[in-house]
Amino acid sequence: MNNLNQHYRDLLGLDVAWRVDEVDLDLDGMQVVIELSHAGGTLVCPECGQTCSQADRAPLRTWRHLDTMQFTTIIRAATPRCRCSECGVKTISVPWSGKHSRFTLMFEAMAIEVLLACANVSKAAGLLGLHWEAVHTIIKRAVERGLDRRSLEGMTHVGMDEKSFGKGHDYVSVLTDLDHHRVLEVAPERTIEASDRLWETLTEQQRSNIASVSMDMWQAFMTSAEKNVPEAEIVHDKFHISKYLGEAVDKVRRSEHRELLADGDERLTGSRQLWLYNAENLDEDRLDELLELQQSDLKTGRAWTIKEHFRHFWVYVYPGSAKRFFERWYSWAIRSRLEPIKKVARMLKAHLPGLLSYFRHHVTNAMAEGFNSRIQSIKSSARGFRNFANYRLRILFHCGKLKMIPETCH
Ligand SMILES: [Zn+2]
Repeated sequence: MNNLNQHYRDLLGLDVAWRVDEVDLDLDGMQVVIELSHAGGTLVCPECGQTCSQADRAPLRTWRHLDTMQFTTIIRAATPRCRCSECGVKTISVPWSGKHSRFTLMFEAMAIEVLLACANVSKAAGLLGLHWEAVHTIIKRAVERGLDRRSLEGMTHVGMDEKSFGKGHDYVSVLTDLDHHRVLEVAPERTIEASDRLWETLTEQQRSNIASVSMDMWQAFMTSAEKNVPEAEIVHDKFHISKYLGEAVDKVRRSEHRELLADGDERLTGSRQLWLYNAENLDEDRLDELLELQQSDLKTGRAWTIKEHFRHFWVYVYPGSAKRFFERWYSWAIRSRLEPIKKVARMLKAHLPGLLSYFRHHVTNAMAEGFNSRIQSIKSSARGFRNFANYRLRILFHCGKLKMIPETCH
């Protein structure tokens, strides 16, 4: 055996049963083909592990390996088939690749790293010199491998979220582990059934460990949580709540702006963004603008003050004090004569227990919301997302914190 052959033997981590017969260097095609053959002898059944004799050889096939200095590197071998007294004739496992894979383990490991680092699949596919289908297969196998290895021990705080999907008003429901900052599972739609399906991915033991579920004030999620994790407390997520309040302010602004414009008053023109930001996030000029508008006795200004004041709710330590604050805030909001604000106030009052449970668990879906931009970029990138299964795989691949790298041969 020459040095090059020995080099590839070492590189592939081959045991004594395999030898490198030939290394074909195709300079024009920028390709290296490594021909391997098996020494024969006793074989191990891939199904049951018992030693057996060789039946024949499977047809010659190829595996894509890591490139060697920009040369596409291919392994070619006819794998022996063993005759097992229990399982019949089976193709033995090879040390460099997983079952049914067209890639070596090292190539898959590399591909996973590239895919994780790339913002979009097309770019990764280009770098790897693979077609979309092959990339999809690697992602699918990586997620399955990761889910098999995943431990759900010690999980006490979870989040139930919705994400838009597709072009219309389709949604998916997402179960997240707030303790370990990861997405656990994704189901189509945002119904009770969708939520039930997510709970069913956990064992009874795992469900009984859950102390709180953070979610929007969404009845389907609440009903499903009450049924599937009756011991857990529902915590209504504060980011969803401030979003409702922000939208209420915006509704007040829009209708007031229309009324003012009818009288030729342009005070609210171009002010939409001003009311949406928290005061501390505005630069000085915009803050001055906001304060000036605040002094001119507008409905929008009142709505904004009520929204801003609600932020104090979250800094209380004791639920009792927070509840007293809420009651004062509520009666103020309800007497505001601002319909959109009154509507949100009533919704919050109806969900008060789930607001107050925040002070026992201090959880929000902020982590899940942090995945928002990631999930958004998954949604908008590349092809194949008309299909829910692909969308789910990509979310788990990027946000599941799964251990997806195959155990390489060395
Ligand atoms: Zn067997």
